[in-house]
Amino acid sequence: MRKFDGKRLVIATHNAGKLREISALLAPYGVECLSAGQLGLPEPDETGTTFAQNALLKAHAAAKAAQLPALADDSGLSVTALGGRPGVYTADWAERQWFEGDPGRDWYMAMGKVEGLLSEQGPDVDRSCWFSCTLAIAWPEGDEVVYEGRVEGTFSWPPRGTMGFGYDPVFVPNGRDVTFAQLPPEEKQSMSHRADAFVKLVADQFSTAAPVDGLSG
Ligand code: IMP
Repeated sequence: MRKFDGKRLVIATHNAGKLREISALLAPYGVECLSAGQLGLPEPDETGTTFAQNALLKAHAAAKAAQLPALADDSGLSVTALGGRPGVYTADWAERQWFEGDPGRDWYMAMGKVEGLLSEQGPDVDRSCWFSCTLAIAWPEGDEVVYEGRVEGTFSWPPRGTMGFGYDPVFVPNGRDVTFAQLPPEEKQSMSHRADAFVKLVADQFSTAAPVDGLSG
């Protein structure tokens, strides 16, 4: 398995929320994170049907274009009563397809769609769900590594909280009674699906470096 032994790592995301969280998680290791957006790298179509396929697709495209190792994440929310949907299509459910001339994503619409499908199943519907995160590092030479993380919780309605991004206002992690959007960023980061995947990545890739606060275990 190849290990990251440089200083500069391209973070293959155009999502500011993810970039912020990933840079914070890697900061203790002295890694200089460059974003795909900053480097003007194109955003490849996410044509995979699994989180791993999409993460690898993005990591390889960025590594090749930047000629540097690149880290990509693919993540999403899976709802048990919806057979794991939206899953890899989590971001797509927020696309405002029918508002012509008004592109962009509407997370409240996406969360409302999940809620609509759940409430159709009645008041006793199973509201359990989980966030998944797959991290992939690819090198310009074609090497690749993949790490998977997960956090279990409940889909809660109505949305609560203003922190975080995406579906955070409806996700209550197991053992808590507040949503991810009501938790300070450091607290969310210590228990998130991204942190879970990062613990595995750090153990493999940075095992000789100092541990990250809140990410041990
Ligand atoms: P992708 O990984 O860019 O394909 O997007 C997955 C989507 O899942 C994101 O745009 C978010 O809406 C959602 N998502 C992933 N991680 C989180 C999280 O930590 N909180 C809230 N939503 C998330």
